[in-house]
Amino acid sequence: MSKKKIIDICHLCGLKKELTFEHVPPEKAFNNYKIYIYEGQQVIQRGDHRFPWDFSDIRGKQSQRGMGNYTLCEDCNNNTGSWYGGRFIDFIFQSYIIFDSNKDKKVINETFYKIYPLAIIKQIISMFFSINSPNFSEVNQDLRKFVLNKNNKYLNHKKYGLYMYFLKGQIHKFIGLSGKLKIEKHLIRTITELATMPLGFVLEINPKPEYKEEYNSFDILCFSNFDLHEARDIHLKIPVLECNTYFPTDYRTREQVFNDYLTNKIAEIRNKR
Ligand SMILES: [Zn+2]
Repeated sequence: MSKKKIIDICHLCGLKKELTFEHVPPEKAFNNYKIYIYEGQQVIQRGDHRFPWDFSDIRGKQSQRGMGNYTLCEDCNNNTGSWYGGRFIDFIFQSYIIFDSNKDKKVINETFYKIYPLAIIKQIISMFFSINSPNFSEVNQDLRKFVLNKNNKYLNHKKYGLYMYFLKGQIHKFIGLSGKLKIEKHLIRTITELATMPLGFVLEINPKPEYKEEYNSFDILCFSNFDLHEARDIHLKIPVLECNTYFPTDYRTREQVFNDYLTNKIAEIRNKR
C-alpha cells in the first residue's frame, strides 16, 4: 500500500518538508500501545451532563501506534531522537520506578541517578513543539535554537517556566498554548501542558512567581544549565498531581470536582428562584 506523503511546515525547524510521525512521548517511553484520543472541541461541546473523566458518550479516535502525529521533518525527528531521546527514556524509566513505590504521597522526594539534565529538558521542549502549532517555534526562536543546536544552554528564567509533576489520574493531556485567566488575581497565564504517565510538564511563557506558590511545583528550567554529556545524581522534590479534567493546570481530585459541581448546581437552582 502506498502511503501518501505529508508535506507541511515542520513544527521545530519551520521548513516546509515531508513530515514524519513523531511519537510524543518517545515510543520506547511506553508509548507504543493502542490508545483512544479525544479532541478538545468534541470533549468541550458535550456539556456538563457527565463528569470530565467519563468519555463513554463520545467516540475517540483510535491509534494503534501510540500518541503522536506528523509534526516533525525527518531531520528534526532523527536528530532529537538520537541526541536526546535515549536519555529522556532512561529518565522516564527511573520516574516509573520511583512513582510506583510512592504513589500515595503528595510530594515525592527522591534521587535520580546519572541523569542527563540538558538532554532531558531538550526532549521535553521538543515534545512541546510537536503538540503546538508550527507558529510556536516561529514565535519562540530561542526555544527553537535551544533544541536544534544540541549544545545550546541556559534558558531565560524570566521568559520561561517549566514545571514537572507526577501524574495521577485518568486523563493524559496534550494542550497547546492557551491563556488561563485567574480572575481573583487579575492574571492571565500563557501555558502549554503535556501530561502522560508518569510525568506531566507545564511550559509557561513569561511566568509570574504566583504559580509556584500555588502548586508547589518544581521548576526544572535549571536543567538547561548543564552540558549535554554531563550526567548527575539529582535530588528532586516533585509534587504528585491528579489530572481528572481536560483543563490546563487543573489538578483537582475527583472529590473536589464533584463538590465544585454540586456547589455550582445549587447556585444555579438558587438563581432561578
Ligand atoms: Zn524540521
